[in-house]
Amino acid sequence: MGIRYDWQKEEIRAIYDTPFLELIYQAASVHRQYHNPKQIQVCKLISIKTGACPEDCSYCAQSSRYKTEVKPQALLDKETVVNIAQQAKNSGVSRVCMGAAWREVRDNSQFDQVLDMVKEVTALGLEVCCTLGMLTENQAKRLEAAGLYAYNHNLDTSPEYYSTIITTRTYSDRLNTINNVRQTNVTVCSGGILGLGETVEDRVSMLHTLANLDPHPESVPINILSKVQGTPLENQPDVPIWDVVRMIATARLIMPASDVRLSAGRAKLSQVEQALCFLAGANSIFSSDDGHMLTVTTPCPGYDADQEMLNLLGLEMRPPFVSQQKVAAL
Ligand code: SF4
Repeated sequence: MGIRYDWQKEEIRAIYDTPFLELIYQAASVHRQYHNPKQIQVCKLISIKTGACPEDCSYCAQSSRYKTEVKPQALLDKETVVNIAQQAKNSGVSRVCMGAAWREVRDNSQFDQVLDMVKEVTALGLEVCCTLGMLTENQAKRLEAAGLYAYNHNLDTSPEYYSTIITTRTYSDRLNTINNVRQTNVTVCSGGILGLGETVEDRVSMLHTLANLDPHPESVPINILSKVQGTPLENQPDVPIWDVVRMIATARLIMPASDVRLSAGRAKLSQVEQALCFLAGANSIFSSDDGHMLTVTTPCPGYDADQEMLNLLGLEMRPPFVSQQKVAAL
C-alpha cells in the first residue's frame, strides 16, 4: 500500500470495522514495510509551564476553569529542563517534548527562554518537540532556527464534535497552526484522544482529517482519556482496549510512514494489551522518571519498567532521528 492523501470516510470506516485479528494482521504487515518492527521510540514529556491555562478543554487538568489537583507552576528554568532531558537520554529516551499550558505563544521573554531550552536540549543529541499552543508562521520559524525537530498540536477529536469539548478556539485555529508549522522544516505531531464521549464516526472523521493532510503528520499520538477529577469529563466510561487497538491499526494503515504513539492512558494497560498495540503498529511510548506524563493526573510507567517490558517483548529503544532517515529513503 502506498501513501495516499485522498482517503474517503467510508474507506476509513471499513478499515476500522475490519474483523479484529484480520485488522491487526494487515496493520502489522504494513508496519513492517515502513518501520523496523523491533524498534520503539521512547519519549519523555516535560511540563515546562503548568496550569492556569485560559482555555476550556473539557479533559484537561490544567485549565483554570476547573478545580483539579494540579498546582500552577511558572516557567521552569533552563538548567532544570536540561537536567531532566539528560537523565531521560541516559535512560534511552530519544525524544523530549516540552509542554507549556498556554493558549498561544507570545513574542516575549518567556518565548525567548523556550527557544534557549530548545537549543540546549537539541545540543544533547535529542529530538526536541514543543507543544505551546497556537503559533504564528514567524514563531514557527524562530523555533526552527533554534533547532526544533517537531511541534505538537493535537486535533483531539473530529471537526463535528470539537465544539462539545472546547469552546475557546475552533478546529480551523488548530489546522492554521499546523499549517504555520508546515511553512518550516519542523515536523508535525498531531493526534487525538479516545474516551471524550465521541462516536466511532467522530474517530473516523478525525483520522480522515489527519490522513488527508499532505504530507501526513510525521507523528500521530493516540491518547486514552485520563479522567481528571474536577473536569467535565471526570465520569466518562473507560475506553475498551479493542477500540484502542482498532484506532492504532487504522492510523497505521492510512498513515503508514508516520510514527503512531501510544500516549496518555498507557499506564492502565497490561503488558499484553500494550503488546497488541505494538503489533497493531504503535511504535512509540512516553516513559518517565517521576511516574506521570505532563501532570500528576496522568500516570506514566517509569524508565526501568518500560525497559523490562521492551526486553520481554524482544523490542529495543529507537535512537534519535531515525524517522528522518526513513522518510529520506522512501
Ligand atoms: S489542553 Fe492545553 S490548551 Fe487546553 S486547557 Fe489544557 S493546557 Fe490549556
